[in-house]
Amino acid sequence: MNPNGTMNNGNKEPPMRAPGDPREKRSGTQPPRWNWLSMTTAGLVVLFLVVSIYSAISQTTAPGTQITLTRLAADVASSSIASISVSGDTVSAVYRDGSIKTTQKETGVSLSSTLSAYGITPAQLKAIDISVEQPSGWLIWFEDLSPVIGSLLFVLLLIWFMSRQMRGAGMQVFSFGQSKARITMPDDVKEKVTFKDVAGAKEAKQELSEVVDFLKNPKKFLDIGAQIPKGVLLMGAPGTGKTLLARAVAGEAGVAFFSISGSEFVEMFVGVGASRVRDLFKMAKQSPAAIIFVDEIDAVGRVRGGGVGGGNDEREQTLNQILVEMDGFEPNEKIVVMAATNRPDVLDPALLRPGRFDRRVTIDLPDRGDREEILKIHSRKKPFAEDVNLKVVAERTPGFSGADLYSLMNEGAILAARENRTKVSQYDLVRAIEKVMLGPERKSHILSKKEKEITAYHEAGHALVGSVLEHCDPVHKISIIARGRAGGYTLHLPLEERKLQSKKAFLDTIAMSLGGYVTEKALFGDVTTGPSNDLQVSTALARDMVTKYGMSDKLGAMAFEGSEARALFGQGLEEKEYSAKTGDEIDAEVSRIMAEAKKRAEEAVSTHRTLLDAIAKRLVEKETIERDEFEAILVAHGVQPKKSDTPIEGLV
Ligand code: ADP
Ligand code: MG
Ligand code: ZN
Repeated sequence: MNPNGTMNNGNKEPPMRAPGDPREKRSGTQPPRWNWLSMTTAGLVVLFLVVSIYSAISQTTAPGTQITLTRLAADVASSSIASISVSGDTVSAVYRDGSIKTTQKETGVSLSSTLSAYGITPAQLKAIDISVEQPSGWLIWFEDLSPVIGSLLFVLLLIWFMSRQMRGAGMQVFSFGQSKARITMPDDVKEKVTFKDVAGAKEAKQELSEVVDFLKNPKKFLDIGAQIPKGVLLMGAPGTGKTLLARAVAGEAGVAFFSISGSEFVEMFVGVGASRVRDLFKMAKQSPAAIIFVDEIDAVGRVRGGGVGGGNDEREQTLNQILVEMDGFEPNEKIVVMAATNRPDVLDPALLRPGRFDRRVTIDLPDRGDREEILKIHSRKKPFAEDVNLKVVAERTPGFSGADLYSLMNEGAILAARENRTKVSQYDLVRAIEKVMLGPERKSHILSKKEKEITAYHEAGHALVGSVLEHCDPVHKISIIARGRAGGYTLHLPLEERKLQSKKAFLDTIAMSLGGYVTEKALFGDVTTGPSNDLQVSTALARDMVTKYGMSDKLGAMAFEGSEARALFGQGLEEKEYSAKTGDEIDAEVSRIMAEAKKRAEEAVSTHRTLLDAIAKRLVEKETIERDEFEAILVAHGVQPKKSDTPIEGLV
């Protein structure tokens, strides 16, 4: 692979054609189906027909003028009726004058009993010629049953509709199940990302170029009997470019990219996740070659069956389905599953077994050189003033992820635009660093005179202790302008980028963290809530020294907390692995370290009292002191400043 990230290509596959057009579309092969609306409409139409046929029938069998039963009875009594014919419930009376009148009798009651209820005697009845006409069989049936059928139909419809809704949740024949994957097709130029768009991450790119190679030319691998990578797990801090890299692999290999986020699998209804997985793999298998990318897989891939409050069924099923699908690949299927996580320690070990995500690629935070490269990539469309020096920006942004650098560039451009300049200057970028690192300045956060003094002394305390103690990093900037959550801050950057920390450096760092606290206490005889974060951070560091790094002489070279590697393969995550007695000893050691650090901070503050006052005074005046000015104050008070050219940040 050359530095530009272009791959040596074997026989290049012709690019896959996108079915339809859209460059990014929601997936979903939908079976032809009735939706509930058309079903309900059909049901209503049937019901309407039944009712209208019924009423039509009842009307056609009732010719002549309508009279009441009472009237009929009266006419029978007065012998003005010649004959009566009964058809169903319809009673037609033929009068002696030839007119025909009809009325309705009650259903199921014979005419004779009806009339006798009206006081007609059997003798009077006999005088009339009564004929009972049997209506044709189906008509009776229909007349009697149509109300029943109607309501039955309605109830059935209702039941069907409701049950469908309930099943719908689990069954997803209807709209729930289709995987929500976003698809990027290989011939999609606008969305295409290649290794060129990913700066740094050299090792990761190298590892992944194997996957690219396989997707382009699987035969080469299969012929030699090589095991093909099925699953690749990308691990790294948030914003290190995991998602970006996965896209780049697809872009380099020229294959379809199906991407879904772990959290999207998990929805309200049980079974949705699993069916989404099925759909996703089914779709991917229809492409000639594809990458399935499950972002943030820890959302579904956590250790199963553990978990506080019982395992989450839904997650487990989804995870199981992923595993089943991965196991079910044919060797000739050109699908590689990629997944990303920033919590590899919580993943279920089953995911990491051979044949699953057995390739693991770690992406580290970028180092200085990489940061410069990333900045270059994100400055592509931004016009720069001549004074911009990305190298310096890269030096001042240790610990920044790719995403941080991206937003730094963006913030810089926004600052320039807000001040109506057409070019981004170095000053914009420097301000953007602080904005990204610490959050925006809270100029509106007005301090009272007293608060300002306390904050100034607090920060001066940090800066002073940090300058006096040998192993602390040089102070780059002190400010009492509130930023993000911090009331003020002291920025100190190390001499060189380093991967290893020594015990002495830790001890001095803890002392420096306590510098604010001891100063407040020494000067004002009181402590504010200001240093609470300092205390948290430094106590955690002291505990790590004892339990993780073996830096306590008393407890010796032992780690008391499961390492990440152990948590990655084992199960027990938060379990304590030491006795209560050892626990007490750990606590005692942590207290001792904290107490000693506090003592050293106190000594530094009291021996350099005039220096402390000078720093605090200047801070109250100017609110921000930059490095040059700070070092001038140090020299004026007989303290030698530390030399540094390649800085890194640390923050107290
Ligand atoms: P992650 O998935 O690891 O959280 P992303 O891939 O979403 O991080 O990265 C977020 C953004 O940060 C990317 O879209 C890109 O703009 C930028 N970025 C991160 N790493 C890099 C890199 N190595 N090179 C260029 N840009 C990067
Ligand atoms: Mg991501
Ligand atoms: Zn502080």
